[in-house]
Amino acid sequence: MVITKDDINQVIKKYDKKKITVCTIASHSSLHVFRGAKDEGFRRCAICAKGRDIPYRRFDSADEYLIVDKFADVNDPKFQQHLRDMNAIITPHGSFVAYVGLEKIENDFLVPMIGNRNILRWEAERERVTKLFEAANIRKPQKIYGPDKIDRPCMVKFPGARGGRGYFVTDSPAGFDEKIKLMVKKGWLEEADRERAHIEEYVAGDIYCMHYFYSPLTKTVEMLGMDRRHEANIDGLVRIPAKDQIEANLQPTYVVTGNFPVVARESLLDQAFAMGDRLAEVAEKMVPPGLLGAFCIQTMCTDNLEFVAFEISARQDGGTNTFMDGSPYSYLKYGPGMSMGRRYCLELKEALKQNRLEDIVT
Ligand code: ADP
Repeated sequence: MVITKDDINQVIKKYDKKKITVCTIASHSSLHVFRGAKDEGFRRCAICAKGRDIPYRRFDSADEYLIVDKFADVNDPKFQQHLRDMNAIITPHGSFVAYVGLEKIENDFLVPMIGNRNILRWEAERERVTKLFEAANIRKPQKIYGPDKIDRPCMVKFPGARGGRGYFVTDSPAGFDEKIKLMVKKGWLEEADRERAHIEEYVAGDIYCMHYFYSPLTKTVEMLGMDRRHEANIDGLVRIPAKDQIEANLQPTYVVTGNFPVVARESLLDQAFAMGDRLAEVAEKMVPPGLLGAFCIQTMCTDNLEFVAFEISARQDGGTNTFMDGSPYSYLKYGPGMSMGRRYCLELKEALKQNRLEDIVT
């Protein structure tokens, strides 16, 4: 049964609002959540996978460490009760969604989280992301309907989170066939993937991943940071001179290994804000209560100075790790030290003060 707003309201009714614990899975982008919780005066609980708690302990991330065999164990009813007993508020991030599981988050995981649990599915399914982009009038790479229609450089993608493994670039139907064969030979694709290929125009531009925070309390979208990804092996590959690249005959992969902070030229910021505003606006109508808390739009900026969006995160994105102590943009709004994790905790503090906790959790 789908967890409703009412179910969550019943849970928080029983919470001791003076003893809230900020809690998340110790992975992905949790470190600045824990630090932000400390800065805003909350008790902290880190759920760690057995044998993977070292970074969190060394960084003094939590007041309580709960060790599980595997993250999916948080779905256990007794474990959930334990979280509710500590008045836990969860902040969701990429690993939380991946390990707890979308269906469980929607139907079973009855612990309040800051953000909209029902929008998480939307970032995971390409057709839904497209619907959001179209409604928000956000430019996306043009879709090519079938390998035989490839008439320009295209990026070919496949479903599921594979870190870009098996993705390839080609500019002709023959090139498509050749690369599919190669990927199958490498074991990165199966023959059946041919039918599942998503083909879109290759956008030759620069990556800008924009990290927004939508506050239901102030009804504003804030721009808190921007990042770019280090991707293996593509970032290594381009360091080889073109002649040697051909000889090396390596296939590019896009496995994210880290992130670095960037700033966009100032004249692009109105476009960046407009995109965030429009996405938040349509999301509120299409998937109520919309994009609460952190969200991210991943874009390419072209030489026409236009952002072309290729993905979203409907929760805290990994690129928020580039501003654990604040970004140039969060500095402009908040002064030093405002990470995304801390912004969550600030919202929580304000919601508690205004007696509006139910407005920021689902
Ligand atoms: P994943 O689904 O694995 O997250 P993405 O859709 O984020 O994959 O794409 C992985 C990487 O491929 C991006 O970070 C970007 O570098 C590149 N990329 C994605 N789409 C395009 C595109 N249309 N044109 C050019 N590069 C792209």
